[in-house]
Amino acid sequence: MYGIKRLAIKIGSNVLTRADGTLDLTRMSSLVDQIAQLHRNGLEIILISSGAVASGRNEIKVKGRLDDVSARQLYAAVGQAKLMNRYYDFFKEHGIACGQVLTTKESLGTRRHYLNQKNCVGVMLENKVIPIMNENDTIAVTELMFTDNDELSGMIAAMMDAEALIILSNIDGIYNGSPGDSEAEIIREIDLSNDITDYIQTGKSTFGRGGMLTKYRIARKVAGEGIEVIIANGKTEAILPRLLEKNPDVLCSRFIPAPKVSGIKKWIAHSDSFAKGEIHINADAAKALSDEKATSLLPIGIVAVKGAFEKDDIVRIYDNKLRQIGLGKVSYNSVNARELIGKKGNKPVIHYDYLYLE
Ligand code: GLU
Repeated sequence: MYGIKRLAIKIGSNVLTRADGTLDLTRMSSLVDQIAQLHRNGLEIILISSGAVASGRNEIKVKGRLDDVSARQLYAAVGQAKLMNRYYDFFKEHGIACGQVLTTKESLGTRRHYLNQKNCVGVMLENKVIPIMNENDTIAVTELMFTDNDELSGMIAAMMDAEALIILSNIDGIYNGSPGDSEAEIIREIDLSNDITDYIQTGKSTFGRGGMLTKYRIARKVAGEGIEVIIANGKTEAILPRLLEKNPDVLCSRFIPAPKVSGIKKWIAHSDSFAKGEIHINADAAKALSDEKATSLLPIGIVAVKGAFEKDDIVRIYDNKLRQIGLGKVSYNSVNARELIGKKGNKPVIHYDYLYLE
């Protein structure tokens, strides 16, 4: 009916909370009604919902002072339970079962854990259960946290081979100027060949961690993997069905997707924080890789190998201007890769199938 089968929807904290920080149950119920309608029409939906920390904040009066980490853990523990209770009841009114999936960046780090997580969400979808995902904020407190739930949603959309990702926040899309400026307009379609980072406001949202710049970066990356990404306002009436029906009156920014990439490449694309080493290449190799043809990275194009890694680890790839141009899964450990630097006639250090270029 909508031309797609599987959709990931991210709902930001600012959509679900009122100005005073309390949970906006009217909004939540309306979004659940919309999702239920899409579900009845045969769409498989994966929901990534923020709002745990925001909805826990008003539940408890803390005695004395809490450090930031403890406060986040406490509010998330209480708030996530509250959030899921509400979702559970709202979906139940439609006769739809939903389930909670909490994750951490670390638990998506190895291919085995990643596939395990994918299987969990897959089995829920097969059984018509709506997965409601969030970062496990009670334990994700280190530098290995997701930047925000926009990053998580991009990773999940890629992991589950969703055809589209809708990111709902409290603004209508990406403006070609400051949203407060009366001349500024929403950029309706964003083509990946145009980088519009300069237009983007760097302010952060009130209750969530994210901001427009991270949304834009994630949206570009995910669209680059062949998934359509739409940024829209979750407070707009009937936003979800209207977006899917491509109603021209509804404001949003759509990122035109690149051709689809394979599942393994999508995993590699989101594995930057697990990279174990670096491979530096010369200008000729960088040029060969950037050509349209499927090209693997051969030892002859390598000028340096940094760090210690094992075969099958993820490494970052740098060009001759020291720009990171991509990531890949290596076919040699770092000792062997170093021995082969500049040599001819060996198998690729990174095969094309395991190479992701940004
Ligand atoms: N996981 C956080 C929460 O549920 C939100 C993170 C974000 O704002 O992106 O409160």
